[in-house]
Amino acid sequence: MAPAPAAEAAVLRARALTKTYGSGDSAVHALSDVDLDVAQGEFVVLLGASGSGKSTLLNLLGGLDVPTSGEISFRDHSLAHAGDDALTMYRREHVGFVFQFYNLIPSLTVAENVALVTDIAADPMPVDEALGLVALMPRRQHFPSQLSGGEQQRVAIARAIAKRPQLLLCDEPTGALDYATGKLVLEVIARINQDLGTTAIVITHNAAIAAMADRVIRVADGRIAGIEKPARRLTPSELSW
Ligand code: ADP
Ligand code: MG
Repeated sequence: MAPAPAAEAAVLRARALTKTYGSGDSAVHALSDVDLDVAQGEFVVLLGASGSGKSTLLNLLGGLDVPTSGEISFRDHSLAHAGDDALTMYRREHVGFVFQFYNLIPSLTVAENVALVTDIAADPMPVDEALGLVALMPRRQHFPSQLSGGEQQRVAIARAIAKRPQLLLCDEPTGALDYATGKLVLEVIARINQDLGTTAIVITHNAAIAAMADRVIRVADGRIAGIEKPARRLTPSELSW
């Protein structure tokens, strides 16, 4: 399948990306021969059954793991052959991660949780700006246990974007949320993508997201099984929060 956007515009580029866990009879072919270009500023949604390879793909793109074979690059930096230190720098400087579980520090306030990142980033936004982007300024002095699941996830998003990453990678950010709350969280991610131009790749089962994405990529059995471009992407004003 032809990789979608022009290679010049790609911020991420994968070629024949393959990841095998284990070896011999116990080998698991998590990802096989995946070609993918992701354009600067694009909003990509990954859909697929459990075990299809979505997290493996996202982890390779985010420098959390390296492929068994194939090439992967961020701009002109190869990630496939990078050492641990280079991958750590890549993640620290360029990637914001959001996972299903929020991983907030319970003894710190909302603002302090975000400050953990802004204190060490090279060019962070002010904590309150990050909290404003997820509409949580009124809760800045609260503790995570005083927030709903959806609010906690929005804090995790604020924490991920406060360092102004090039990439926002989200692995089932709505997995622990009900449908309506999940939709709100996805709308926050879509809004950040549009307002800040952050390239976003989101794994989700929440069908509401498809209308917000530039491309929906279906993953099946470790391969890209299909790519859909929604006819018209909704603008932030059409999103409903
Ligand atoms: P998804 O995120 O789509 O549910 P994953 O990328 O997590 O899928 O997993 C793809 C396949 O790789 C699955 O069969 C899974 O069991 C396997 N897998 C994932 N991580 C590991 C690992 N660390 N060791 C062995 N097998 C793994
Ligand atoms: Mg997964």
